[in-house]
Amino acid sequence: MKKKKYDYGKCDICNTPLEEKQIKQDLWIKGKLIIIEDVPAGVCPQCGEKVVKADVGLWMTKLIEDSDRISKAPKISVPAIKFDPEELAA
Ligand SMILES: [Zn+2]
Repeated sequence: MKKKKYDYGKCDICNTPLEEKQIKQDLWIKGKLIIIEDVPAGVCPQCGEKVVKADVGLWMTKLIEDSDRISKAPKISVPAIKFDPEELAA
């Protein structure tokens, strides 16, 4: 397959041309957070809207179903903070 630059077009929200970037995509699967790194995506420099190509989206859909691959992936820990309504300013 030939690699050519993909045109992501313009942002649906603010009509700014999207820029290709490698992003971290976070996904919740059955209550568990997984992060996919270096995902190519069109990112809006104006509002931060992210768009992935159809084949990238399809790849992620397959990955989500691959529980074996997910369970073997390296783990990172993330801070988990519970919201406390008592901390809100009165
Ligand atoms: Zn935008």
